[in-house]
Amino acid sequence: MVVTSTKATKCQLLVGGKWVDSDATEFQEVYNPSTGEVIALTPMGGKKDLDLAVQAAHKAFLDWKEVPVVERARVMFKFKALLETHYEEIARCVTREHGKTLPEAKASVQRGIEVVEFACGIPSLMMGDSMANIARNVDCETIRHPLGVCAGISPFNFPAMVPLWMYPVAITCGNSFVLKPSEKVPLSSIMIGKLLAEAGLPDGVFNIVHGGKDCVDAIIEHPLIRAISFVGSTTIAKYIYQNGTAHGKRVQAAGGAKNHIIIMPDADMEQTVQALQASAFGCAGERCMAGSLAIPVGEAGEELLPQLVASSSKMTVGRTDGDQAPDMGPVITREHLEKVKGMIEKGAKEGAELALDGREVEAAKNSKGFFLGPTIIDHARPEMTVVKEEIFGPVLSVVRAKTLEDAINIGKQCPYGNGAVIYTNSGRAAREFKHHFNAGMIGINVGVPAPMAWFPFTGWNNSFFGDLHIQGYEGIQFYTQQKMTMTRWFEPKGDAFQDPIWKAKK
Ligand code: NAD
Repeated sequence: MVVTSTKATKCQLLVGGKWVDSDATEFQEVYNPSTGEVIALTPMGGKKDLDLAVQAAHKAFLDWKEVPVVERARVMFKFKALLETHYEEIARCVTREHGKTLPEAKASVQRGIEVVEFACGIPSLMMGDSMANIARNVDCETIRHPLGVCAGISPFNFPAMVPLWMYPVAITCGNSFVLKPSEKVPLSSIMIGKLLAEAGLPDGVFNIVHGGKDCVDAIIEHPLIRAISFVGSTTIAKYIYQNGTAHGKRVQAAGGAKNHIIIMPDADMEQTVQALQASAFGCAGERCMAGSLAIPVGEAGEELLPQLVASSSKMTVGRTDGDQAPDMGPVITREHLEKVKGMIEKGAKEGAELALDGREVEAAKNSKGFFLGPTIIDHARPEMTVVKEEIFGPVLSVVRAKTLEDAINIGKQCPYGNGAVIYTNSGRAAREFKHHFNAGMIGINVGVPAPMAWFPFTGWNNSFFGDLHIQGYEGIQFYTQQKMTMTRWFEPKGDAFQDPIWKAKK
C-alpha cells in the first residue's frame, strides 16, 4: 500500500557513504507479516535519487578499480567476519520484514555469506589467460577489467541472500554498485550496507536506492550504469532484459518458476514425503526453487498422497517474530495472501480436489498476520491454472502421470525452467529425467537443488533472460570485460643492439 504519511521510520538512501533522505513524496509500507504491523516506510524514489547514487558510484569506481584485487578481497574477508558476528541480528531482521522462520532466515543468510567467501577467492578466480609464441615472437594475453557502475534489483523473498548473490562479486571484481532492494523488504539490505562500510569499503563503492518501477526505469536508462542484475518475477525480468539491453547494458535477469517434483513408485516414500513437504511449504512456498508441482508416477500417487496430506496437516503455522518456533510463517502481504487464496479457489473451480485446504488455518483467526496453511491440490490437470502458473505460496498442486515419459512431457509444456526434481531409486529413471527434463537445475533425491555460491544459478526458458547466470564463475564473467593484448618484440638488427644479455647469447 502506498501512503503519504505515517509515524513509521522512513528508510534512507546510502549515497557516497552517507545515509540521506530520499526526494520521494510517496512511501510504501513495510510490514511485519506475522502481525500486519507497519514497521518502516520505503521511499518510492525515482530519477533524482538514482542519479545521486550513480554519480557517487561512478566517482568511487575511478579509484576502486585501481585498488589491487587482493586489497579488495581483504575488505570481503572483513565483511564476512562482520556478517558472522551479526548473523543472528540479520536473520532476525529478515524474519521480521519477510516472515520466514528464524531457522529459514539463518539458512538464507548463511547462503549469502557463502557468496562472500567465494568473492574472497576472486584474486585467483579473476585471472586471465596467456600464451607465448602464438606466432613467432608474438605473445597473447587476456586480462579481466571491471565494467564500472553495476546495479542490482532484488525481489522480496530473500531480503539478505539475493542481494548478496550480486554485489560481493561485482565489488570485488572492481566495480561500484547501486542496489535497489525490494520495496517490501528494504531493512536487511540497510543493516548489511552498514557492515560493508565497517569492513572498510570506500565511500560510494556500494550505494542503496529505494523505489519501484520509476526507480527501475531510471536504472535502465542511466547512461553510467553498465550492467544490471535482476531477480524477480518473469514479467519484470523480461521487461528489464529487453529494455536494459536496448539501452546497451549487460543484463542477467532471473525470473519466476514452477518447479516439478516427480515421484517414481520405487522412491523411498518416507524420505520423499519429508522432502516434498519441505520443498513445497518451506519459506511458506515463497521460493523460486520451491517444489510447487508434484507428479507421482503410476502407483506412487496412491502411496504418497495419504502420507503427504497427513504429515502436512500436522505442520504448525504461526508468528515467527518472537520465541515461537512454528514450522511455517506467514506470507509477505495481505494482498499476496488474497492472491494465493484466489488461486486455490480457482483450482477447486477448475475441477481439482482440495486434499488439504490451508485457508482456514488456526493462526489466521483473531490475527492481523498474513497466514495461510499448507494446501494440497490433488488430481490437477496440465491445462489448469494451478499447474501452469507460479502461485508463490504454500500450495502444492499434484498431477498424476502414468509413466515417466508422461511426467517429462508435462515439463515440456511448462514455460518456466528453473528447477526439477526426481525421487527414485532407479539410476536409469534418474538418468532419463536428468537428460531430458526441460529445466536448468536438477535434483535427484534432493528437494531444493539450489546451487552453492561457486556454481551458477542456471535457470532456463522464462526463468532466466541473459547469457551469464548469477553466482559462480559466470558471475565473475558477467561483472568483468576482457582485454586481449598481443605483443611482438622485434629482434635487433646487426650490432646496433647494445644489451649485454643479448650480446652474450649471440
Ligand atoms: P517482482 O518482479 O514483483 O519484483 C522484483 C523487483 O522488481 C522489485 O525490486 C520491484 O521493485 C521491481 N518491480 C516490481 N514491479 C516492477 C515494474 N512494473 N517495473 C519495474 N520494476 C518492477 O518480484 P517479487 O514479487 O518481489 O519476487 C517474487 C518473484 O521473484 C517470484 O516470481 C520468484 O520466482 C522470483 N524469484 C526468482 C529467483 C530466481 O533465481 N529465478 C529468485 C528469487 C525470486
